Amino acid sequence: MNTSNDRPKLGLYSLTSCSGDILEITNLEEDLLRLLDVVEVVDLNVAMPSTGKSPDIALVEGAVTQPDEARFLRRLRKKAKYIVSIGTCACTGGVVARGTKKRKEWLREVYPETGEGFTSTFPRPVGDVVPVDFSVPGCPIERGYLMHCLGYLLKGVTPEVPNYPLCMECKMKGNECLLRYRGLPCLGPVTRAGCGARQPSVGRPCDGCFGPYEDANKEALVEIFRRMGLGEDEIRMRFDLFWER
Ligand code: SF4
Ligand code: SF4
Repeated sequence: MNTSNDRPKLGLYSLTSCSGDILEITNLEEDLLRLLDVVEVVDLNVAMPSTGKSPDIALVEGAVTQPDEARFLRRLRKKAKYIVSIGTCACTGGVVARGTKKRKEWLREVYPETGEGFTSTFPRPVGDVVPVDFSVPGCPIERGYLMHCLGYLLKGVTPEVPNYPLCMECKMKGNECLLRYRGLPCLGPVTRAGCGARQPSVGRPCDGCFGPYEDANKEALVEIFRRMGLGEDEIRMRFDLFWER
């Protein structure tokens, strides 16, 4: 086993979020032991006080909704070699960044007593506040995908990630196509692969949390949805969950 002095230092930071991505990391099981053999965890802000050491790799989950979080990120940027946004909230703002126009209305509806008094700013991705070296999308992240990316980063190399649609992973699993054979509005044809077709593999259409791959043809899929009989509002809502940021 390497001593803590010669292992790269890893920091795990949670901003405004459900902490689901950090939770996925703690659930890495045997891979977690392998990871801890090659890195030293210097920060885990949801569970332990900081060691005060600067991280080589900072994994940041969650959206930025507080001035304190933006200040924290600027300090982190000066110390960390790599900042990696993990999870869709950190990468694009995620589910919490929905409803630009209706936000106040929703806050009043859900929190009638206190909704008006919230001081949080509109959720922003980490990359809106500081330069990010790499993004690992997913709601939550896919453990194998994260380990793949960390393997590259620990060698000082930018990770190679799939630039093809989720449908390819879905086909490789031998799944029946939910779009073609069950008429379900799956976003797989325009969503970046990497999750292993989590939802289609259990009979649910993809919601697009990995975001688009390069050259994804959204208009073609919108046209297919129209021909399937989906209304314009339904189509907009399909893309609104994760895509339109
Ligand atoms: S179920 Fe969805 S992801 Fe799978 S092949 Fe069909 S459209 Fe693509
Ligand atoms: S199937 Fe789609 S929504 Fe589900 S995890 Fe994969 S990319 Fe995200």
